[in-house]
Amino acid sequence: MKTKSRTKGFGDATLAIHAGEERCHVNGPVVSPIARTSNFTFQNSEEMKRWAEGKSSAYIYTRYGNPTLAIAERKIAALEGAEAAVVAASGMAAISSALLAVLKGGDEVIATRQLYGGSYRLMRDIFPKYGIGVRHVETDLAGIERLASPRTKALYLETPTNPTIRVVDLRKAMAFAKEWGLISIVDNTIASPVLQKPLEYGFNMVVHSATKFLAGHSDILAGVVAGSQALMDKVRSNIIYLGGAMDPGAAFLLIRGMKTLQIRVERECKSAMAVAKYLARHPKVSRVHYPGLASHPDHALARRQMRGFGAMMAFDLKGGLKAARRFCDRVRVFLVAASLGGVESLVILPIYSSHYKMSAAELSAAGVEPGTVRVSIGLEDPEDLIEDLRQALT
Ligand code: PLP
Repeated sequence: MKTKSRTKGFGDATLAIHAGEERCHVNGPVVSPIARTSNFTFQNSEEMKRWAEGKSSAYIYTRYGNPTLAIAERKIAALEGAEAAVVAASGMAAISSALLAVLKGGDEVIATRQLYGGSYRLMRDIFPKYGIGVRHVETDLAGIERLASPRTKALYLETPTNPTIRVVDLRKAMAFAKEWGLISIVDNTIASPVLQKPLEYGFNMVVHSATKFLAGHSDILAGVVAGSQALMDKVRSNIIYLGGAMDPGAAFLLIRGMKTLQIRVERECKSAMAVAKYLARHPKVSRVHYPGLASHPDHALARRQMRGFGAMMAFDLKGGLKAARRFCDRVRVFLVAASLGGVESLVILPIYSSHYKMSAAELSAAGVEPGTVRVSIGLEDPEDLIEDLRQALT
């Protein structure tokens, strides 16, 4: 796996540990402390005046900014190769703040149809109330030109997708966004910046559920948007006024989690490949959705575009929902839980989690079957994971 980032000449592992930290070198703590405070003092009224006039960047109130949040923001910006980043209370706070920074009533967004269920429902159930139109395109981007109109202002992609791990061609998507002058946004949650950096292709913004791989320990909710300073100013404004600010305690855990991101993802990719190969040979499994397998429809694209195939996969059981439920009820090492990207390996049925409240047609368009099991590979010994799958599928 290539780890050298083009950003600032350092590799991702080095950036994740050192970027964004404020170390004073004389008797200073190695670990940046949490600024666990909601508000900040002013030295005097002149300083307050300067802040109010926009002449000072002093901290005033954590919803506007906080030194611990700023460290997390600089670290993510370094990893994504962005000018700036803004952290948020959750991935959905980041995604909604990013989209609403570029869309207003009367505008349209083109989005991949395969999306995290929450992002899909935001566009299906909330955006129409504010006059924002949504047009969906398949992951191969077929016919995308026919969806564009003068109302189209943004292109929103998720790649790889959740849960069937389809891969969208970033180069092709970017060419389309450029041609139509669209603000282009990629949800990079499933890959993480270790495996792909969409801004290097010219995308305007990257969003993450930092709850997942970035934080990595299933103990916080967190979101992030990264991009140009001008766009981040708009996103921050939405965080301030819509209220999705991150808590400093969560920022501390996010910073700590990110320090091991590169090595976690590297190990998880290796284990995921071993698990996917095992599942692909299993007689009760009809299909494994893992881009590292040659049988995956986007294998060649993933090989070109990503630095590794990731820790996420899904598989369909020949016995459908009944078999999938039986499997989930029998696992012992894997936990049956929503979310992904933590050190614990998880299984979940998308129809009862990310893809609840979706019609049969919507599920089939998302490639989700009732017997689809989504898997997030963690850091356990791969042999133990495979043995657990063996006994649960027996
Ligand atoms: N994007 C993807 C790909 C996700 O999987 C999720 C959550 O599962 C989200 C966004 C939403 O993030 P959060 O749950 O942190 O709000």
